[in-house]
Amino acid sequence: MTLLIDGKYMDADSGESFQSINPATGETIGNVSAAGAREVDAAVRAARAAFEDRRWLCLPYPQRVKIMFAIADGIEATLEDLAVNEVRENGMPLHMARATISNGAEAFRYYGGWIGKLHGQTGEIAAGEAFHAYTLKEPVGVAALIVPWNGPFMLACHKLAPALAAGCTAVLKPAEDTSLNTLNLVQIVHEAGVPAGVVNLVTGLGSVVGQALAEHPDIDKISFTGSTATGRRLIEASAGNFKRLSLELGGKSPVIVLDDADLELTVPGVLGGIMNNSGQACISGSRLYAQRGIYDKLIQALADRASKLVVGNGLDKNTQMGPVISQKQFDSIMGYIQSGVEEGVEVVTGGKRHGDAGFFIQPTVLSHVPADARVVREEIFGPVLSAMPFEDLDWAIKEANNSRYGLAGAVYTRSIAKAQRVSRAVRAGTFWINSHRPTDFWMPFGGYKESGWGREGGIQGLEAYMESKSVITRLY
Ligand code: NAD
Repeated sequence: MTLLIDGKYMDADSGESFQSINPATGETIGNVSAAGAREVDAAVRAARAAFEDRRWLCLPYPQRVKIMFAIADGIEATLEDLAVNEVRENGMPLHMARATISNGAEAFRYYGGWIGKLHGQTGEIAAGEAFHAYTLKEPVGVAALIVPWNGPFMLACHKLAPALAAGCTAVLKPAEDTSLNTLNLVQIVHEAGVPAGVVNLVTGLGSVVGQALAEHPDIDKISFTGSTATGRRLIEASAGNFKRLSLELGGKSPVIVLDDADLELTVPGVLGGIMNNSGQACISGSRLYAQRGIYDKLIQALADRASKLVVGNGLDKNTQMGPVISQKQFDSIMGYIQSGVEEGVEVVTGGKRHGDAGFFIQPTVLSHVPADARVVREEIFGPVLSAMPFEDLDWAIKEANNSRYGLAGAVYTRSIAKAQRVSRAVRAGTFWINSHRPTDFWMPFGGYKESGWGREGGIQGLEAYMESKSVITRLY
């Protein structure tokens, strides 16, 4: 039973289900209920009832804080099991699964810490002293939280924690390929003391469950992480009742390496920026622009290091890169590599299947890629780096911005001035200098352009689950 509606575990009425596959072996690891519009409606009604009777919000705020912290503790108490489940469903290496699950727990502490600390304002109004004016922050209502498969447990936490901290109730919809571990998350949430009906889980197909949530008149807000194509569909489907939308979408992040870059730092930085999670990260630095003087040395060093990455089952302790999520994703990535070959790129390393079971692809570095090749323009979402040399920094900046995406970017150089100049010029929501990874809960995360709407993280991420109300009282 993979649905949790109003505190009760159930299967879809239709009895329909689909299999969850271990991407490292191709073996079935469980069955997932395929809910339909009826179950979506039941979950939304449960969340609506829980919102209206204020069973969550009426708990004194210190109690809600305690519950949020208890969720974090509950996640940490079972971290090893959750991490193993994450590897079995998603394929990521175990050390990465541990880190992402632990990060998910921290999200409940970070946002739990905000409860009771977000206030409105009081102020004078032009109508004079006869009036007392203030603002209130109120939860937006019932939130649909639609999660992708590439960091399933952590991304579910990144949505659920601020939704609960804001006082919303929620319907959580995991991705088809990675639904099972989310069931463990909602169980922990309930054991920690979140009342039944406040958090509901509906598994199923995006085109059925996701679409029904987007169209449902009793959903007030959607927080979505996924592809730009689905984000566009959600905008249309959710227009009926003007749902609030937070959209964290695709990316094609540029990495600019200048001649004066420190190679010791640049090579692991660039490689980690693309190969982490087998390239299945929205922030992946998939377009490399390297200055002519460093280009050959850098490409050679990247290729050497990439070819030595230990690719394998995420449960093997030496594995550095796991499989991609599914046969569909495998075929799509291999199709992109093939398109690059047809457009004349040089495959410096990789480009082939790894092993003969599961969905493994060799870490791949493509060089001398035409700036308008498909592998440069489109999001591949796989372990494929497309590299291009440049002479003139202005050209590299122009090309970095020559994308419909604007999620992230990075520059490697020893020059503070050039680093600052590039960081200002590149239009992206997150930018790294001499790195490609760390960020923090307090830092807003999201994209420019077609990489999305709004920000997750920090106070902006919390306010995305809130409305502001202005109250004016006549005193005399
Ligand atoms: P996807 O858009 O296919 O699916 C994401 C989620 O949306 C899944 O839960 C899916 O079931 C659901 N969905 C599918 N069709 C739907 C519909 N019509 N209505 C409502 N929901 C629907 O994306 P994916 O392939 O699972 O994830 C990979 C994509 O996500 C990549 O493009 C990646 O860049 C993006 N991503 C972005 C971020 C970010 O923070 N910006 C983070 C992770 C992934």
